Amino acid sequence: MSENSRVPTATRHPRPDAVCVDAVESAHMALIEAVDPRDVGAHLGHVVEGDRLVSHLFGCERAGYGGWRWCVVVTRASRQRSVTVNEVVLLPTDDAVVAPAWIPYRERLLPGDVGRGDLLRTEDDDPRLVPGWFAGDERTSPLRDDTSVRPVADEIGLGRVRVLSLEGRDLASQRWYDGEHGPEAEVAQGAPASCHSCGFLVRLAGPLSSVFGVCANEVSIDDGKVVSFDHGCGAHSQVMTGNAPSVEVLSAPALDTLSFDDVERL
Ligand code: SF4
Repeated sequence: MSENSRVPTATRHPRPDAVCVDAVESAHMALIEAVDPRDVGAHLGHVVEGDRLVSHLFGCERAGYGGWRWCVVVTRASRQRSVTVNEVVLLPTDDAVVAPAWIPYRERLLPGDVGRGDLLRTEDDDPRLVPGWFAGDERTSPLRDDTSVRPVADEIGLGRVRVLSLEGRDLASQRWYDGEHGPEAEVAQGAPASCHSCGFLVRLAGPLSSVFGVCANEVSIDDGKVVSFDHGCGAHSQVMTGNAPSVEVLSAPALDTLSFDDVERL
């Protein structure tokens, strides 16, 4: 038969082994030996797992384990008339209360979870970072005098082992834009003008400078925060120009020198 003319073999279902299927009593004995007999309910049936391999299922009466069931796996060696208990386990059904799926701690972290004194390792393959090199790095240019080059490189923003990748930059800018300092923020909705025209906006350098700046208005809710150009707040530098509320001017006090007041008459 050629390679192409082979037909796929049908999935083979194991035949129930009568000795294993009938070994309910042996399974029950093994179960009440392993756990408190008061936790064991009625026999619920069996599942044929393989050749001479059967799981017997029993109800679980243990408090707090509604929807769980005991599973006792029995097997039989070829040409043997008695079974061997392989394992006793507690299994959940679809109705069981189970713990939520485990999530690696790195994916569980939320903004603000890293507090004072905490250390958070950034993985070597973090997609938000890429290696950063510059001409004075000893790994790439051993003939250079690093002691003189490195301070200059640091000053102009080079010299870091890793820098933001394009993906990291996109993630950050999208997060900032969608957050409390972007155009959809509640404070921006009622702002008289946007940050773009505000004198308190400090411009950034680099690729993010076309969209973001830093607010430097101490009375603004966004002071010290990265804000998008189309963000805004009521403390915009031009908001008071020509519209300052006038202070109420009071007339000079009038002194009555012709009559006595009640206190003096007494
Ligand atoms: S004061 Fe308001 S409008 Fe001006 S930069 Fe800050 S957040 Fe933007």
